[in-house]
Amino acid sequence: MFQVPKSHPRYESLIKREKLAEGVRAGITSFQGLIAHGRGEAFDYLIGERTLPPALNATKTAVAMLLLAERPVLSVNGNVAALVPSGIVELSRFLDAPLEINIFYRTEERVRRIKEHLLRHGAPEEKVLGDKPDALIPGLEHARAKATRRGIYSADVVLTPLEDGDRCEALVRMGKRVIAIDLNPLSRTARAATVTVVDDLTRAVNNMIRLAAELKEASRGELEKFVETFDNRGNLQSVLKIIAERLTQLDIIELD
Ligand code: ATP
Repeated sequence: MFQVPKSHPRYESLIKREKLAEGVRAGITSFQGLIAHGRGEAFDYLIGERTLPPALNATKTAVAMLLLAERPVLSVNGNVAALVPSGIVELSRFLDAPLEINIFYRTEERVRRIKEHLLRHGAPEEKVLGDKPDALIPGLEHARAKATRRGIYSADVVLTPLEDGDRCEALVRMGKRVIAIDLNPLSRTARAATVTVVDDLTRAVNNMIRLAAELKEASRGELEKFVETFDNRGNLQSVLKIIAERLTQLDIIELD
């Protein structure tokens, strides 16, 4: 991996790019995944590369929903595997939720490589699904409909970081509660999900791990309150309002 100097003003961002480039070299991440990340980066600039208060609120709701779930599943694609392999494995362990590899541009070779990568980062073999799909999500064409009965197909709550809009909508139609992490508050995924965390994947997963530890002691009643009072459309609107206000107040000199 290219050595990014720690003193570089865009260190965090460059490290993420390096991890994704490495993911492509290792056959884990798709080329299209790089483009998707670029779109995310543009929105991250607009929100100021930090977790906004509405995003933290959505993250808390997402964690409450996952803790309350009977069959939670965490979906993993090539960008998630490259950017936050340890984080997603830790979250899976904490929630006792399986990981299911679910990639847009599916090849069995890439699924196998992602699986090996997750195992290397400490995931137990029985907790990594997706390499032997045995069910189809209704309403999607065959390759993208593939799912695992023991995983996403039967899940009540699915965390789908960086999902595409179609599949997110199809999962919601199946009656599942879908949690998306997406920096673009305007995407179809963001609008279709039950809870959308408009935040960078790495920040969001770190926040989820921290909040899961904090909320573990909370009563079911407290967790249910978070979930019941959450309004996804309102939350997305709050993010858009922050972006709009920030843009009208930004002074180019402040950006140095
Ligand atoms: P949709 O199908 O939901 O309308 P899309 O076509 O933009 O949206 P994709 O190209 O499938 O969706 O996925 C890219 C999405 O993932 C973008 O909306 C982008 O903002 C988001 N994204 C990419 N990288 C990150 C990241 N590191 N953290 C959070 N979101 C990200």
